[in-house]
Amino acid sequence: MKYIVTGGSGMVGKHLQEIMPNLIYLSSRDCDLTNIEAVNSLFAYENPYGVIHLAAKVGGIIQNINNPAVFYDENIQINTNTLLAARKNNVKRFISVLSTCMYPDTVEKYPMTEEDVYKGPPAYANFSYAYTKRCMAVQIEAYRRQYGLDYNYIIPCNLYGEHDNFEDSNKSHFVTALIKKIIDAEVIGAKEIGLFGTGSPMRQFMYSGDLARVIKQVVQEDITDSFNVAPPEQNYTIDQMAKMALEALGKSDWRVEYDINKPDGQFRKDVSCSKMLQSLGDFEFTKFKVGVQKVYQKLTETK
Ligand code: NAP
Repeated sequence: MKYIVTGGSGMVGKHLQEIMPNLIYLSSRDCDLTNIEAVNSLFAYENPYGVIHLAAKVGGIIQNINNPAVFYDENIQINTNTLLAARKNNVKRFISVLSTCMYPDTVEKYPMTEEDVYKGPPAYANFSYAYTKRCMAVQIEAYRRQYGLDYNYIIPCNLYGEHDNFEDSNKSHFVTALIKKIIDAEVIGAKEIGLFGTGSPMRQFMYSGDLARVIKQVVQEDITDSFNVAPPEQNYTIDQMAKMALEALGKSDWRVEYDINKPDGQFRKDVSCSKMLQSLGDFEFTKFKVGVQKVYQKLTETK
């Protein structure tokens, strides 16, 4: 079955390529998904059986706060064009990767389940990016209902991994940036790291290779349910994660300084993975400390 992967050059795409090398991996250079003519030509030419849709304009908290219109316009276009072209070109399977930031800023009960998505507005910091993810969920549900298509989506929590963008601190995600800060401090012999905010928000982070393994199973077993993907029992405060990462790397004696003038973002957004486990059966997530060691090792090896 021929599958194309949009966003194949990104963090998740690179992991997927390692475990599913025979798919067609695309970057924005192969096709600008904001251009509907280009997307239609690509789909007509490739004639894929399925699409794994990873492409998105993704950014850090500051970028999202400063450019909400850009994040909205680009992501709405990327998602809508890709889905329109998939249907028009008779694509049978469409698996889209959304994000837990589409969930409400606060709900009454945690962890959040798939039914909670529309119970309130998403967090201010990435409001427009989050809405584009909700819109994609709505569009996929609509296509299922009206056209009877087997299209679905999965909703992962925050990710980290060795393929994240380590060079651009505006783009890398918290755990990746944390590991980079530890490596940089090591180089100059400092035994401390500085982090943004108060350290008190809670986050659920997943090693991005785990998400790639979930996608592989969804494709291979032709799973058409939509569900959250997040490691249960791994919802830690920023401060706990910083200390766990230092401990995992043998640096428990290091200090962590907080810049409380920088924003914290959403307080918590942990989701349940019960529905995922019903669909996939048992799934073993990488433990946080093991993931940190893995990423640290890969990064220091390639230096
Ligand atoms: P990433 O590393 O930022 O990669 C983004 C990908 O999208 C790249 O391949 C990029 O191509 C492509 N892209 C961006 N604009 C495009 C355009 N106009 N046309 C075609 N391709 C375009 O993203 P990721 O971290 O792998 O994330 C994959 C998916 O998971 C995204 O949908 C994201 O929203 C979701 N997600 C990510 C996280 C996270 O923490 N990273 C958490 C939850 C959900 P180029 O390389 O050519 O720019």
